[in-house]
Amino acid sequence: MSKNSIVIGVDLDGVCADFYGRMRQIAAEWFERPIEELTMDVSYGLSEWGITNQSQYDSLHRFAVTQRELFSSMEVIPGARKYLRLLSDEGYRIRIITHRLFIHYFHAAAVQQTVNWLDSHGIPYWDLCFMKAKTQVGADIYIEDSPDNIEQLRSKGFKTICFGNSTNRHIAAPRAESWQEVYAMIREFSG
Ligand SMILES: [Mg+2]
Repeated sequence: MSKNSIVIGVDLDGVCADFYGRMRQIAAEWFERPIEELTMDVSYGLSEWGITNQSQYDSLHRFAVTQRELFSSMEVIPGARKYLRLLSDEGYRIRIITHRLFIHYFHAAAVQQTVNWLDSHGIPYWDLCFMKAKTQVGADIYIEDSPDNIEQLRSKGFKTICFGNSTNRHIAAPRAESWQEVYAMIREFSG
């Protein structure tokens, strides 16, 4: 397959943007607890920080997005900018796929925060898809950190690199612990 026709489906939160790092700061504020008390070793759902059910998670997440501009205030995950640019320059097509439109009537702000963040951090991309059902988007190789999404994509036969973090240690290979490893794996996949 020519590199020029290979589409890389890239997740944002936890893959390009340091979702858990920023959420930790916001959670410390939300719970009025010293940040050191909140472990960095979290699982999906943030139970380690005291979140016990979906509605608590949703409240914190909504506060983060609507009151603390979560989508435009996260740090870039090291290497994301450098290696996505390298892949883009080599002819791969970068397709950002994110499920960020989960708050009703907040879509304009969510999209605005997202595109501002992508531009201001110099992340190259051709397509930007706001989709929950990532299997319906279409990409040759996916890079994803959410355990559920990875399992769903793989069960449908999509090549999916698990981008390693504390939420997905139980997920099998192929796994990458850094963007440098993602880059090497994509080069290997595509010959
Ligand atoms: Mg993610």
